[in-house]
Amino acid sequence: VGQANEHEFQAETAELLDIVAKSLYSENEVFIREIISNASDALEKLRYNRLTTDGEGGEAPQMEIHIRTDKYENTFTIQDTGIGMTKEELSSNLGTIARSGSKAFLKQVADKGDAGSSIIGQFGVGFYSTFMVGSKVTVYTKSHDPNSKGYSWTSEGGVSYKITEAESVMPGTKIVVTLKPDCRKFAEEETVKSIIKKHSAFVGFPVRLNGKLLNAVKPLWTLDPKDIDEDQHLNFFRHLTNNQSDHYLYKLFYKTDAPLNIRSIFYVSEQQPTMLEMARDASGMSGVSLYSRKVLVQHKTTNLLPKWLRFLTGVVDSEDIPLNLSRELLQNSALISKLRETLTSRLIRYFLDQSRRDPEKYLKFHAGYKLFITEGVLSEDMQEKREEVAQLLRYESSTLPEGEVTSFKDYITRMGEERNILYLCAPSRSLAESSPYFESLKNSGREVLFCYDPYDEVTLLQLKTYSGKQLFSLENEVVANSYQNEKDTTPKADGELTMSDSQSKELTDWAKAALDLKVTDVKVTDKLDKHPAMVTVWEMGSVRHFLKSQYLTDP
Ligand code: ADP
Ligand code: MG
Repeated sequence: VGQANEHEFQAETAELLDIVAKSLYSENEVFIREIISNASDALEKLRYNRLTTDGEGGEAPQMEIHIRTDKYENTFTIQDTGIGMTKEELSSNLGTIARSGSKAFLKQVADKGDAGSSIIGQFGVGFYSTFMVGSKVTVYTKSHDPNSKGYSWTSEGGVSYKITEAESVMPGTKIVVTLKPDCRKFAEEETVKSIIKKHSAFVGFPVRLNGKLLNAVKPLWTLDPKDIDEDQHLNFFRHLTNNQSDHYLYKLFYKTDAPLNIRSIFYVSEQQPTMLEMARDASGMSGVSLYSRKVLVQHKTTNLLPKWLRFLTGVVDSEDIPLNLSRELLQNSALISKLRETLTSRLIRYFLDQSRRDPEKYLKFHAGYKLFITEGVLSEDMQEKREEVAQLLRYESSTLPEGEVTSFKDYITRMGEERNILYLCAPSRSLAESSPYFESLKNSGREVLFCYDPYDEVTLLQLKTYSGKQLFSLENEVVANSYQNEKDTTPKADGELTMSDSQSKELTDWAKAALDLKVTDVKVTDKLDKHPAMVTVWEMGSVRHFLKSQYLTDP
C-alpha cells in the first residue's frame, strides 16, 4: 500500500460540482444512470481495444456490470470489468473536467482515422453526480494495460481527493458511494432496481443487482430492423407499455443519420385509447422516451413530439443529444425542435403510406385515433403542418357507398373545376342523405363529404382550405346559391306543381309576417322535392349547438 497523495480538484471542477448538484440534476437518482453509463463506456473501450490490438488482450474477461446495495454499511457499489484507469488517467479523468476520458478517447480514434467513434458520445459531467448522494466516494481501479497497478481514489467532495496505490484490485473499476443520511434509499435493492429499470433498462452489457440479472430486454432499436422478428417487437412493446396482453396495430422502425442521428421505434396500440387516456394530458406527456446511446435522457418525454402524437409508444435514441440535458433545455433546445420536426414528418408519411397499403387496417386506426388527428389539425403548434396532418383524415362521401371513405386528396381528383370542397355535418348517413340541404344540391351531382362526429365541424371550419380549395359547409353553399337568386329553368314535368309569382309572393309575405323577427328573409325555392321548407343560416356550425339534440336524432 503506497502513500496517500492529496490532490486539489481543478478550480473548475469544484465549481462544476456545485452547479451539477444544484441545477442540472434536481433528481439525484440519475447518478445511477451516469455511473452505469460510465461502466458501459469502459466496457465498450475494452472491447474496442481488444479488437484493435489483436492477440494482446489475453483471456476475455466477463463483460458485466455489478451493482451491490448494502443497507448496513449504507453504501451503493458498482463494479465493471472494463478498461480501468492508470494512475495518470485517474487524476486527469476524475480531477479535472477539461479532459474527459471519453473525449480524449474519441480524439485518439479520430486521429487514427478509425470508425470506432460510434462508441463514444459526449456525456458531460456524469461522474461528479455521485457527490449529490455520497458523503464519500471511493474508486478502485486497475487498467487493463499489462504492468499497471491498482489504485484507489477517494474524496469527500469539496476541494480535494486522494490517490493511493492499492492491492488486490481487479482489472476494471469499482466505485463505492457512502450515502448521505438523506440518501439511504439508494442502499435499498427495490429502489435501486426500479431506478435502473427506468433509466438503464437497455444498457448494452448485462447489469446485475445483488447478483440478479436486470436488463433482459434487448435495446431493439440498436439492431438491424431486418433482424427483429414480430415476437421481439411484441415483447418490447409490452415492456414499454407495461401491459402483457396488449398488441400493436402499427410499428415503425425509423433510423437516419441526417439531419440528425436517430434510431427510433414507434408503436400504435391496438387497444383504442379511452377518453381518459386521450385526456392524458395537459402537459403533453408522451409515451415516447428519449435515449442517447441506450441511456435514458428522459422518460415519457415532453416536446419530443407534438402533443397530438401522444398516443404513440416508443423509443427515440439520438447520439446527438447530450445525456445531461436538463428539463429547461428540453423545452427550448434547437436540437429537440429539429428532432421533433423530423420525427413528425416521418410519422405522418408513415401513416399515409399505411393508408395506401392496407386501407382496411388504416380505417381501424382512423376509428380509434381520429380524435388525436383532429387535435393535430386544430392545435397551435401544428399550424404550419395543418394540411399535412389533415391528409390523415377520412370521411364518407355522397358518391361512395356507405362504409367507404375518402381523403381530401382523392376528393379533389374527382371535383374537376369546382372551387369548394363541400361537406355536410350530420349525426348519421341517413340524416345526411335526407337533409334538405343535401336534397337541394343533389341534382347538381356534386360530391359532398359526410361528417358524423360533432367535432368535425369545428375541425373543418378551422382548416378552411386544403390544397388551395375552400372547405365549404353545404349549408353555406345553399345560402350562397340562394343569394344568387338563380331561377331553375328546367322544364317542369307533367303534373308537377308550380306557383305563379303572385302565389309565391302571397306565401312568402304570410311566412314573413308569421315568423316576424325570427327570420331575415323568406324565399321560394324549387330545389326541394321531399321537404316543404328549410332553414338556412350562414355558418350553420356555430349555430348548431343552440339546437336541442332531439332535433338531431334519427326520425
Ligand atoms: P464522461 O463519461 O462524459 O467522459 P464522466 O464524468 O462521466 O464524463 O467520467 C469522466 C471520465 O472518468 C470518463 O471519461 C472516463 O475516462 C473515466 N471513468 C469514469 N468511470 C469510469 C469507469 N467505470 N471505468 C473507466 N473509466 C471511467
Ligand atoms: Mg459519463
